[in-house]
Order: sequence, then structure tokens, then C-alpha cells
Amino acid sequence: MRLRILGARQGESLTTHYGAFLIDDTIALDAGSITTLLRLDEQQRLRDVVLTHHHFDHVKDLAPLGLNLRNLSSDAQVNVWCTELALMELRATLFRGNFWIDYFTWPTPEHPAYLHHAVVEDKPFVIADYRFRGIPVPHPLPTLAYEVIGPDGSTLLYTGDNGKGAGAAWARSRPGLLVTECTVPNALAEVAERAQHLTPALLEAELEAFRSAAGYVPTVLLVHVNPAHEATIRAEVAAVADRLGTPLTIAEERTELVVPPATC
Ligand SMILES: [Zn+2]
Ligand SMILES: [Zn+2]
Repeated sequence: MRLRILGARQGESLTTHYGAFLIDDTIALDAGSITTLLRLDEQQRLRDVVLTHHHFDHVKDLAPLGLNLRNLSSDAQVNVWCTELALMELRATLFRGNFWIDYFTWPTPEHPAYLHHAVVEDKPFVIADYRFRGIPVPHPLPTLAYEVIGPDGSTLLYTGDNGKGAGAAWARSRPGLLVTECTVPNALAEVAERAQHLTPALLEAELEAFRSAAGYVPTVLLVHVNPAHEATIRAEVAAVADRLGTPLTIAEERTELVVPPATC
């Protein structure tokens, strides 16, 4: 299973982009940069978009994607997997009729550009040859981490946004690769607690919780890094990696990796 990292920052600029990750070029995890960082022909290869939650930075490119795909092909259709709550919020905001086109019902409710599939926590579902399971994680909006088991048996856990207590949720899976967030530096611990994000110190505690439950630390890729604080976060993450005795990598945007097998 290949994972392509598009955006991986909590800040939008020429050089930093909101989160989106592609599994084998056809399944997107979150939609923060699926138009910003993909060519039109790459957007056309998307079959499924799976959303962790409906915060703007995770969904924003769904708005331009619908128009792009319909411009390219009059019968284009993409599957959008999210909770009923996320669908309701998307239709009330980004896709509200006089704000943008509601691709969940347009051009016809029978054959909309976006075909919604309801995700329910802990209920597994299948997309092509990939097995998915949504695991609830702590965040102010209902948020699902996704365990994805590829056809080769490799297992990815992409958490979306999560804060204190996330380690117990992660330990319900046995991933080879954990893609999680580290949003702000330790000095902003109060912000992290309030908005339920991770600092390097909180990440350390959650990885310790995972290790004591699962007996290993997976390969870790950190995303959702706030670019205004990236230098400090990098230094603090390096110190955590030293203490844990395991590498912790801050994701580079526009890169790709092969999901490693679990080492437990
Ligand atoms: Zn969020
Ligand atoms: Zn976010």
C-alpha cells in the first residue's frame, strides 16, 4: 500500500497546505489539498474520499473538486465516506445552495457528483481491496481515525485531529504506520488541551500509552504541523524521539512512502 502525502500542515500558503493523503492514487484520506496539489488528471483518478471530520481544513477542496470533475466529464461521480453528521454540516456550509453547488444532490439526487456513504464508528467497511474501520478519537467535533488494511496486509492508522487520550484509541489497532498530528509546540499546551490537539509532550504520553498497551511503537509520521511554530515543534519532537528511542518523522509535503508491515 502506497501513501502519498499531499498537504500536511495546519496552515495554508504557497508552500504549506492542509492535510490530504492518497492511498494508491485512488482513495483520499481527508480533502484539505486534493485539488490544490493534484493535477486535473490525478483528480480524475480519485474514486473515494474518506473524511475524518468536518473541520474546514480537512474538507475544503471538496468544493472545487466537484466542479473540476464535472467540467471534465458530465457523469463523473466520487464516493464520499463520512458520518451523517459531517454530511449534514457540509451541506449546511460549503455546499449550501446559494454559496456553492450541492454536489451531494446535483445534477440529480439519483446520480449526484458526490455519492455519500455513511460511516459509523467501529463498523468496518470495504473500499475496493482495502478494509476500513473508523475509530473515535478525542477532538471537539466527532472525529474518526481510520484503520486501513491494504490488499498486501499492511496496516495504516490515520488519526486526523486528536488530543489527549488518543493513545488509548490508537491501541485499538496494530498499525505498521501511524499518521497522526502534532499541531503546536509545548508552550501552547493550553491551546492544545482546549482544541484537543497534540503537542510534542502530549504525543510522547500518547505513544507511551500505545506502547504499554500494544508492546511496540509503530513507524510514526507527524502531520497537521502549524508552520508558524514548525522549528520549535521539530526540536521538541526530536527530543521526544530520543527519549522514546524511536524515530518520529515530520511529514514532508508532496512525498510518498510504502506503508511498512507492523513490527509487533
Ligand atoms: Zn479538527
Ligand atoms: Zn485540522
